[in-house]
Amino acid sequence: MKATRLLDIGNVRTAEVPVPVPAPGEVLIRVEACGICGTDRHLLHGEFPSRPPLTLGHEFAGIVVGCGEGVSLAEGARVTCDPNTWCGHCENCLRGRVNLCVNNVATGLGRDGGFAEFCAFPAHKAHLLPADLDPLHGAFCEPLACTIHGIDIGAPKAGERVMILGGGVIGMLALQLCVLAGAEVMLVTRSASKQALGQRLGAADVAATEEAARAIWPKGADLVVECAGVVDTVEAAPRLARSGGRVVILGVLPAGQTVRVEPFDLLFREVQFLSSFINPFTQERAAAMISAGRIKLDPLISRTLPLDEAAAAIANPARPGEIRAIVLPRG
Ligand SMILES: [Zn+2]
Ligand SMILES: [Zn+2]
Repeated sequence: MKATRLLDIGNVRTAEVPVPVPAPGEVLIRVEACGICGTDRHLLHGEFPSRPPLTLGHEFAGIVVGCGEGVSLAEGARVTCDPNTWCGHCENCLRGRVNLCVNNVATGLGRDGGFAEFCAFPAHKAHLLPADLDPLHGAFCEPLACTIHGIDIGAPKAGERVMILGGGVIGMLALQLCVLAGAEVMLVTRSASKQALGQRLGAADVAATEEAARAIWPKGADLVVECAGVVDTVEAAPRLARSGGRVVILGVLPAGQTVRVEPFDLLFREVQFLSSFINPFTQERAAAMISAGRIKLDPLISRTLPLDEAAAAIANPARPGEIRAIVLPRG
């Protein structure tokens, strides 16, 4: 079968590899759709920890086509794959902080992932999806699960003002979750097309810059959710929070990247500066929301592409205005 593999830092290519055999406790999944994430680009450039050589792809859904020993998942079932597999016995797992597991071997980062025709996957991390779900929608469960965790941390309340910084897939999902929570939402992005989409998805206001956002909401936002993963917006986020407000960093900056914030301002205005990492216990909630059609996903799909084009798509930056590109391993 074909698989798009990170052979080493800086070297991604699609190659022929054997179809994996599911080990005890695993299922074999025929991948239907796998989203290209900013993290895949970070992995290629060595900006996020990984263990090459391996097949990339951690945002995928597919059909169970085989079971390893001890697994009883029905063949033919559609599942979303939670790539993060905690160990259950390290000190962080034992405190219930499973997303901080020191032994997490994430599929698509630490073991072969979903940019392939087939993937062997831990059965207990496969969550059932409806048989009639659009397969493309299944690929959004993982990013939505990560976004749900970030919004749990930010905890928007009905009637609060929330600023979303960044109009990528995480920003568009966070926007929708905050609107569903009853918040008044502003999307801050320089992209005019993303501003227009944000309004269609329920944003009350849009702005292109920090200054423009402040002009619309002079007191700032109760909650600022940084979803862009760039230095400028991380630095702007606390400045855009109102006194007593919260900031949640959901965007991923390269490891080692630093930013400038003013601790006195955080202290004097008691702004909480929080961060959110992956998807502890939220994949099932994401699957439920997507299965019920509560999140608008079609407008977030910028393009689909075959496996042969995946390596080039990962090696290049996202196209202007692109929100999510999704690989269809079987064309
Ligand atoms: Zn991702
Ligand atoms: Zn652990």
